[in-house]
Amino acid sequence: MLLLLSVYAQCAAGVHDPTTKFGICGIITAVVCFPIGLICLFVDTEQKCSRCGIKLR
Ligand SMILES: [Zn+2]
Repeated sequence: MLLLLSVYAQCAAGVHDPTTKFGICGIITAVVCFPIGLICLFVDTEQKCSRCGIKLR
């Protein structure tokens, strides 16, 4: 529990741990419309904090 609090304390201080995730629509478009769909794959991304899950943009 104490560990969890210290992890979230970093997020509360604005120090997030960003990870890039591809949207499911982008992945499907990339497969169906390969190779042009790869552009959609990189457009349909979002950055999330791997600790608290908040969207970073
Ligand atoms: Zn965070």
